[in-house]
Amino acid sequence: MIIHTHPPRDHIRYYQQVLVDAHAHVFPPEMVAHREAIAGIDASFAGIYAGPAAKMATSKELTAALDTAGIDRAVAAGFAFDSTAHIEEQNAYLGVLAAATDGRVVGLATANLAHPDWRDGIERTLRAGAVGIGELRPGNQGWDPLGTGAHELCDLAALHRVPLLWHVSEPVGHAYPGKAGGIDPVALIRLASAHPGTTMVAAHLGGGLSFYLQMPEVRRAIENVYFDTAAVSLLYDDRSVARLVDLAGEQRVLFASDFPLLSPRRQLARVRETLTADAASAVCGGNAESLFFRPRGG
Ligand SMILES: [Zn+2]
Repeated sequence: MIIHTHPPRDHIRYYQQVLVDAHAHVFPPEMVAHREAIAGIDASFAGIYAGPAAKMATSKELTAALDTAGIDRAVAAGFAFDSTAHIEEQNAYLGVLAAATDGRVVGLATANLAHPDWRDGIERTLRAGAVGIGELRPGNQGWDPLGTGAHELCDLAALHRVPLLWHVSEPVGHAYPGKAGGIDPVALIRLASAHPGTTMVAAHLGGGLSFYLQMPEVRRAIENVYFDTAAVSLLYDDRSVARLVDLAGEQRVLFASDFPLLSPRRQLARVRETLTADAASAVCGGNAESLFFRPRGG
């Protein structure tokens, strides 16, 4: 007689779970080497990256950090530079990131909607292999997140079936470098409501946006909005991700570190310990896997 034994369900989940860091930042080695020169001509970049204390990383350093953390894959953005030349240099690196890392790290295309030719760079970078657009910083680049260009960007993202990643910050609380350069939560609610077919990721827990999910009409209007946990330990208390999961649902929250600002290993441990096994499985990998690592088709 054969006796079938079954491991406990949590045990199975542990081995099946894919871990994904959904928001990290990488730069081409040449841009890391020339950071001072770039900071000299790009004030927003200087606001975050001037001085050696602010870390910049290449994809090599990101994959090393993923190894340390036991994380399978990551989604990487660059920076929302002002000049088309910097954006092109960066997009050339981000577009081929998936190919260069055997699919382990995928890149997001950068754009500056203040320049008339913004669309070409995005399309070229998506064709090369980028899987989304962002981290978008309209405040830093001087374009209106509710203007004509922003609506065209949403349509373009929907057409290519890729998500938009927005830097979102709170209208309250402490200041930090780069805080105000993104979109505010109310503007993001308005934009997302106008584009139900466009998937949006609200970085940094959405800057307070999730509170309004408790209003039924708002909840219905922004079913296309996901939230990532980038930099959470610098912004919010220990229970904040668990509360976000409660408000938004575990299928709409993405674990993210904001590497190299923070360590993926420590952020993952911090987020995981406040979630149930099911929620952790979705938040720490499952959701990002289906958003960023599935074939786009059509
Ligand atoms: Zn951000």
